[in-house]
Amino acid sequence: MTDVSDDTSTTCGCCGLARPTADVARLSSHPEIAVCGSCVHGMAGRLANRPSITPIFPVHDMAAAHDFWTRAGLRVDEYSPEYAFVMFGDSELAHLDLRAGLDPATNAAACYVHIPDPHEWHRRWKSQGLPVSDIVVEPWGMIEFSVKDPSGNLIRMGRND
Ligand SMILES: [Zn+2]
Repeated sequence: MTDVSDDTSTTCGCCGLARPTADVARLSSHPEIAVCGSCVHGMAGRLANRPSITPIFPVHDMAAAHDFWTRAGLRVDEYSPEYAFVMFGDSELAHLDLRAGLDPATNAAACYVHIPDPHEWHRRWKSQGLPVSDIVVEPWGMIEFSVKDPSGNLIRMGRND
């Protein structure tokens, strides 16, 4: 296969397709080998009995939720006026479930998102005006920040160092 790796495109060592560089991961033991998100997702699905978990966030205002996640740089796929999927490439980050009576001030829903590059996510979300906390290095080694969506769902973003 021809390796076309440059700043924007990287050849996947599994399917052989040129993929956006932001959507490939390199093997820890063989960093010369890059695998695209689609292939990683496919491989994960073939691991027997490995659970895949997606949070379902209650939202009181679907339009506000759509705006929030779009500004966060993710895609929102509407399933119905009451239900939608927040997508990162071809994988789900969360589901959005319309709950008309939800009070954002008392909503206690939360999730933790493990990411390799919290500083980059923090910079991007802050530049989009999302209400992110400062980045902190926790005593137990996590580098993390948090944000609440318009419905009061707490999203904590971080990496173990
Ligand atoms: Zn691939």
